[in-house]
Amino acid sequence: MSLSLFSSYRQRQLEALLEISRALTSRLDLPSLLRTILSYAAEIVGGEVGYIALTTPQGQLRLATGYGLPSKVYNALAPYLAQRKADGDFWNEAELRRHLGIVREASRLPLEQVIALPLVIEDEEVVGGIFLFRSGPAAFTAGDRSLLRDFADQAAIAVRNARQMEQLRAEKARVEAIIENSPNGVMILDPNLKVLIVNRAFSKLTGVSPQAARGRPCSEVLKLENTTGDHLCLSAAPPPPTSVWYGEGDIVRPGYKRVTVGINYYPLFDRNGHLLNVIATLTDITRFREAEELKSTFISVISHELKTPVSLIKGYASTLTRQDANWSPEMVNEIGRVIEEESDRLNHLINNLLDASRIQAGALELDIDDVSLAHVARTASERFQTQTEAHQIEFDFPPDLPLVRADERRIRQVFDNLISNAIKYSPEGGVIRVGAWAEEDRVVAYVADQGVGIPLDEQDSVFDRFYRVDSSLRRSTQGVGLGLFLVKAIVEAHGGEVWLRSQPQKGTTFFFALPRAE
Ligand code: ADP
Repeated sequence: MSLSLFSSYRQRQLEALLEISRALTSRLDLPSLLRTILSYAAEIVGGEVGYIALTTPQGQLRLATGYGLPSKVYNALAPYLAQRKADGDFWNEAELRRHLGIVREASRLPLEQVIALPLVIEDEEVVGGIFLFRSGPAAFTAGDRSLLRDFADQAAIAVRNARQMEQLRAEKARVEAIIENSPNGVMILDPNLKVLIVNRAFSKLTGVSPQAARGRPCSEVLKLENTTGDHLCLSAAPPPPTSVWYGEGDIVRPGYKRVTVGINYYPLFDRNGHLLNVIATLTDITRFREAEELKSTFISVISHELKTPVSLIKGYASTLTRQDANWSPEMVNEIGRVIEEESDRLNHLINNLLDASRIQAGALELDIDDVSLAHVARTASERFQTQTEAHQIEFDFPPDLPLVRADERRIRQVFDNLISNAIKYSPEGGVIRVGAWAEEDRVVAYVADQGVGIPLDEQDSVFDRFYRVDSSLRRSTQGVGLGLFLVKAIVEAHGGEVWLRSQPQKGTTFFFALPRAE
């Protein structure tokens, strides 16, 4: 080769390598990159046909891209390659001759020469090979081999990059899946505290969709009230966080039930200490807060409600036993009646508390039988009617009302609670109507009064434990807010349901449905 020929050849090679490096740094996918590398390599070393094969994750070779290869050759090569590994034996002379034979036969080209080089990553892992074939007697030279080395190296870099990219992509998808499916709300902020990502749980807690949140300052996306601890998103220009912050607060979401969250703000820094992101994770702690409030309500309600009857009983008992007094028989009777009433009240309260804790522990046992609701309602009503003159209890039970499947003692408790509430919460008196009707597979019973009613926004809460509607009546009537909780739990334990209709100052009707007996 003359010098000028050599230098133009060298020039062409350099150009090819430059072109390939450019392709490597631009965002070409692996197959197109390998195709570019292979065609330059074939051109430079004078290959007529060729291909690049890559190692599959199972360790077999698979044809990745071909140059000038008739399609028949793909089919002929596939089984041969699938049985091979890109290890030492694959590159020896005898194997290469065999290899050449297969390509020649399948292509029907007069191929006589072969040159092959492994693609090596990190100086040890063979991830495939580059193969070129040509006709004619002139064998590939050591020079060709060293040229091809450059192309093989470029192809190995492309494979390594593609693998790294694949790994990154998989890693990213994994992290995204973890964030998206985390049961806790997650919000990722940029250094200016603008929202980059929020996950599904976050959207559910706040009602702000990921699309609506993206790009907005976190103070607009995460609105809180009643906060304690440290927060990042309360003002538009908060101080940058330097360590993990923790705060609690109620999410502002008009029209929705209060949700209390605990928030961890975790700042993420780069190697130079610059803030990269803040990761805020939100945990729904509503139940903890509720449990805490329930506990303190429990203690105050119980201490008050238990103390009143106990001190009355104690007061009257010590009055009775005073040595210096001489009580008339009527007085003794009256004192005895008060002591009995207060003891009954204590007993009732203790039983309600026991039932409530049984229900909470899931241990409410039912003794199911065929029960006549009319009979149970009538006995309860008669008992209550003797205690009040201001109320008239009326019945509305059709004579052919079907029986229900129920625990009679528990259903009596339901009527007792509903009728005593109807009396308690209609201080002006009036009619209390107790009745029932049959439906296809259930019987619906009701207790209706003409009392104070329940405001609409309280109607869901009255069935909660210890819940009492805040009113002047609440302060003057006795009760701990367990009656309706028990009614609901008992009816639901029967597979039934309970609901109410009420109009303030007009009256309230409680309904409950139980399954019909056959
Ligand atoms: P308690 O009567 O001990 O307070 P309940 O669980 O029976 O507890 O009732 C919860 C609250 O629901 C009551 O405090 C009252 O405010 C309201 N309520 C219950 N029944 C009626 C009714 N018939 N009319 C109006 N308000 C009622």
